[in-house]
Amino acid sequence: MSEKTCAACDYPLDANAITVRIGGQAVEVCCEDCAVKLREAHAAATAQQG
Ligand SMILES: [Zn+2]
Repeated sequence: MSEKTCAACDYPLDANAITVRIGGQAVEVCCEDCAVKLREAHAAATAQQG
């Protein structure tokens, strides 16, 4: 099975799915809220490096 799920909450993606770029990679999420969550998580992760 190759059903796609939200990269943030694992909810099955439907017609409302949106694609966002996180760290140069395109990922799909179920809604704008999840896109914001992913961006903040990535920003926090990269901020901790170095
Ligand atoms: Zn989601």
